[in-house]
Amino acid sequence: MASFKTLDDIGDVAGKRVLVREDLNAPMAEGKVTDDTRLRAAVPTVAELADKGAIVLVLAHLGRPKVPTPDLSTALVTRPFQDVLGRPVRYIDWEGDAASIATLQPGDVAVLENTRFFGGEEKNDPAVVQRFAALGDLYVNDAFSAAHRAHASTEGLAHVLPAFAGRAMEAELRALEKALGDPERPVAAVVGGAKVSTKLEVLRHLVAKVDHLIIGGGMANTFLAARGVNVGKSLCEHDLTGMAEEILEAADRANCTVHLPYDVVVAKEFAANPPSLRTCNVHEVAADEMILDIGPAAVEALADVLKTCRTLVWNGPLGAFETPPFDTATVALARTAAALTQEGSLVSVAGGGDTVAALNHAGVAGDFTFVSTAGGAFLEWMEGKELPASRRLPTEFRIEDRYAGQ
Ligand code: ADP
Ligand code: MG
Repeated sequence: MASFKTLDDIGDVAGKRVLVREDLNAPMAEGKVTDDTRLRAAVPTVAELADKGAIVLVLAHLGRPKVPTPDLSTALVTRPFQDVLGRPVRYIDWEGDAASIATLQPGDVAVLENTRFFGGEEKNDPAVVQRFAALGDLYVNDAFSAAHRAHASTEGLAHVLPAFAGRAMEAELRALEKALGDPERPVAAVVGGAKVSTKLEVLRHLVAKVDHLIIGGGMANTFLAARGVNVGKSLCEHDLTGMAEEILEAADRANCTVHLPYDVVVAKEFAANPPSLRTCNVHEVAADEMILDIGPAAVEALADVLKTCRTLVWNGPLGAFETPPFDTATVALARTAAALTQEGSLVSVAGGGDTVAALNHAGVAGDFTFVSTAGGAFLEWMEGKELPASRRLPTEFRIEDRYAGQ
């Protein structure tokens, strides 16, 4: 893995202005933060720099503003961030920001206004890069979840200021490297979730990388259909069965064993504990039934596979886990993975918005080796970088290379 500079390499920061790119884009409802996971992820880096006497200037975006709007002002997350940080945090607007920053003392922390209030932020406009760079002496990128985007505050600044990975970024990059870069084998990947179409690139990349590809969730239905199984009313992308066949063939060539469920949990209506609920073999799904989870025999077989593996990457729930009892398979396999991790026989890395929610629901997120808080960036990482040089090239590797060069 290309080495990169971290806070261990940053030197004496006392009295220096450090621009720290964080992801404070926490889910909000009616102007209130509903989940502070991302805010908490930012704490170690900000606290460490403040403790060392830096003037910490947090750069962050919120939502997708077309023009500056109070609804997406970082003023809304400043107070919640102060609460999780446990020390005062100032909010600084883009008007008069330089003068405000000049009043800060070593050890002070401020959140600057939404970086996307500048139209050029998302275009990586050099003028915006310079606008930000003028405010600081050093740059720390701690926002892995924004690292797949080459924006002024995520990528541009690393060109013009001495750049370092923050603690959260460092942890992400190291965990991902351990899981797919240079993993201990055998490696298993669980890919679930609703649709094949959103994860085609992930599947294509993984078959070439992993020893076992476990497919669950709605997307398994498309693969089952490709193998001639009648999936009834299930969520299924029938137009993608050809693509699914290609992935199965690629897996064969790469010696990757693909695991599709033998048994499934079905119902005639999608509701909690519906009267029509039953478990059956995949070949016995009726025309008016839909597959909403993988079955207990499949889960048992998959648990046995995980027991033979040393590394696991997981994206996507195995069933419609928000509605009971269709969380059963996801919860059971997640608990197996967590137990194997705790016993020390498995390195387990998971990511994805719904996946993290499912692991929290199973009560095991803390027992995995690493759970990525990034959605898009994690998926793009799972898509690999040997894809045609395209817009999907994961910027985190380029950022890493840049750190290595300094
Ligand atoms: P992530 O956010 O972790 O990447 P996805 O967004 O791809 O995951 O998929 C999660 C969604 O897939 C969940 O809302 C879940 O209800 C749905 N899902 C999983 N299995 C099924 C199924 N068999 N039928 C319908 N929806 C499913
Ligand atoms: Mg999702």
